[in-house]
Amino acid sequence: MGASPDYGPDFERLREQDPEVAQVLLDEVARVRGGLQLIASENFTSPAVLAALGSTLSNKYAEGYPGRRYYGGCEVVDRAERLAIDRARELFGAEHANVQPHSGASANLAAYAALMQPGDTMLAMALPHGGHLTHGSRVNFSGRWFDVASYGVRRDTELIDYDEVRDLALRHQPKLIVCGATAYPRLIDYGVFRGIADEVGAWLLADVAHPIGLMAGRAIPSAVPYADVVTFTTHKALRGPRGGGILCTAELAARIDRAVFPFIQGGPLMHAVAAKAVAFGEALRPEFADYARRVVANARTLCDTLAAEGMRPVSGGTDTHLALIDLRELGVSGAEAERRCAAAGITLNRNAIPYDPEPAAVTSGIRVGTPCVTTQGMGLQELKEIGSLVARVVRDPGAVADVRERVSALAAIHRPYLSEY
Ligand SMILES: *Cc1c(COP(=O)(O)O)cnc(C)c1O
Repeated sequence: MGASPDYGPDFERLREQDPEVAQVLLDEVARVRGGLQLIASENFTSPAVLAALGSTLSNKYAEGYPGRRYYGGCEVVDRAERLAIDRARELFGAEHANVQPHSGASANLAAYAALMQPGDTMLAMALPHGGHLTHGSRVNFSGRWFDVASYGVRRDTELIDYDEVRDLALRHQPKLIVCGATAYPRLIDYGVFRGIADEVGAWLLADVAHPIGLMAGRAIPSAVPYADVVTFTTHKALRGPRGGGILCTAELAARIDRAVFPFIQGGPLMHAVAAKAVAFGEALRPEFADYARRVVANARTLCDTLAAEGMRPVSGGTDTHLALIDLRELGVSGAEAERRCAAAGITLNRNAIPYDPEPAAVTSGIRVGTPCVTTQGMGLQELKEIGSLVARVVRDPGAVADVRERVSALAAIHRPYLSEY
């Protein structure tokens, strides 16, 4: 492959100086161009975001906040952070924004630190039902440092059991209730969570790491009017740089800021902060609302196609950018389906389904998402074909070569970083 203009002017310099690392960059672009990315938590950032990430802002130490730094020479990078903050507040209608968290997990750590002491009780969604590691898993700080009560989805509907949430809240009197998930295809009723939190005097944190981009594009209702604190990532459906962020009420602004710095982080990654500003700017444009709507429409089409092929969507469908598929009727495990798809150039992940009889390394399901393929410009027609291809290769490993050929053809037409998006 030749040099790509998307790397910017310095890629040739990297290739001369460090061919080994340069080759990794080239191979990774070749990998994504050679297949279909259905990982629900991934996306393709714009060249503008990549330019900010690859900038000299990476060099600057800027502990503190704009106008209140612990290092000199921050007057220029201050402008990047102010732009990011102002744009995030405008985009989400939030009273306060902190754009420094290095990741979604760091944003949650900071939010918990702002609202709780070690040993306090929190109520969050169980990992096997779609919650995140940072929602109280025992292998994570959240499960080690807090007393965690977990809610899940109902066996019959596979939807969040709001009655259970309320019962658990009344019984455990948590200081914090967390709503939000990493593998839940449906809308979450933040108003109901707000009511339960008010009833027991708990803070409400909405972890919208996944659907934040859909909220930015007004494709689904926002959590911001309901939650005291909203944590998010910038690299999933929002299509920005790898990173995190926190929105909160004016009341909690100082506590959240102190929790991010100096409590859990040192200097912010100013190149990432600048890239977040670029991504928020992109998300403020009307085209992004169109993108968000297409992501959801595409997910629905993919989900419906898989359902028609006998692959059961958990909860019966999707309202978001992702679907969770139960493979038990096909007699194929999540791990095996992941392998078969990978062999055909389709990247997706195995995922536990609610009440999954299989261990986490095997699982009975897969998770599919449409942020990447939508960024590549694919629409309903392509998603129908992708659904058929996934179903075909999951059912029949003998179809790998055929499916791979169609995958390559689709990927060649919709190459990331060469098409307009
Ligand atoms: C992805 C995700 C996170 C963590 O984000 P990282 O940037 O990987 O740390 C946190 N919460 C939820 C619900 C997520 O889906």
